[in-house]
Amino acid sequence: MSKPLADRIALVTGASRGIGFALARQLAAAGAHVVATARTVGGLEELDDAIRAAGGSATLVPLDLRDGEGIARLADALAQRYGRLDVLVGNAGIGGPNSPLGHVEAKDWEAVFAVNVTANWVAIRCFDALLRRADAGRAVFLTSGSATNARAYRGPYSASKAALDVLVRTYANETATTPVRANLFAPGPTRTHMRAAVMPGEDPMKLPTPEEVAEKIVPMCLPDFIASGKIYDFRAGRLLDFRPPQ
Ligand code: NAP
Repeated sequence: MSKPLADRIALVTGASRGIGFALARQLAAAGAHVVATARTVGGLEELDDAIRAAGGSATLVPLDLRDGEGIARLADALAQRYGRLDVLVGNAGIGGPNSPLGHVEAKDWEAVFAVNVTANWVAIRCFDALLRRADAGRAVFLTSGSATNARAYRGPYSASKAALDVLVRTYANETATTPVRANLFAPGPTRTHMRAAVMPGEDPMKLPTPEEVAEKIVPMCLPDFIASGKIYDFRAGRLLDFRPPQ
């Protein structure tokens, strides 16, 4: 099997289950040394076992992404150990409440924005210098169709993903003259814990698996992926431009 990420360092947030778990395995299979973060140590250990069994390598970093200083410490550790970061995947997210906006509690709103938006901004702030030091730094963030469809009762999640979209497109503009490429990936409904929590009545077996989805994220992490500021829509099966500025 070819190893297009041999000798490269790839950080995946939310790697303890779901899409992040599947992606971390696939990046490791492509040759990357994976730095895997999440809060659930058991899930990270299961990932480590799977990666090692396939001949790959990982570093596990138990971390609550609401801890901005923890993200900064991780960036310092990577700077000292590797001096660069080749791939950053901002995958961790939470689904938040299913409620009309008038019933959303402040703590739930804040939790959704802390994980889905602020943690990704902090990651960009902390890892930007390391991505720029790589010869082909790649950043991919997991968004959602909710960012634009404004579905009833999904306000906090939808607003957070819309904010993430702008954050990542801004980062793409700010790195346009560097080797760094920053893009978004919208998986669509996927057979994961989050989807089951948000849509409990749905038959998960009718949804794509995290492995199928992750296969389409891997190419966006490779040095030869040169587009930036775009969004890959899994259901459409292609890379899309955003609307041009009005
Ligand atoms: P998931 O199975 O619920 O996994 C979410 C991951 O995020 C877990 O590894 C979780 O780890 C991590 N996470 C959550 N809160 C965290 C925190 N405070 N600190 C650190 N890590 C945290 O979700 P998924 O479906 O794979 O979703 C992955 C991404 O795809 C998300 O950004 C989601 O919005 C997006 N997405 C998913 C779907 C879908 O249908 N599944 C559709 C559109 C977009 P711990 O709990 O161990 O910390």
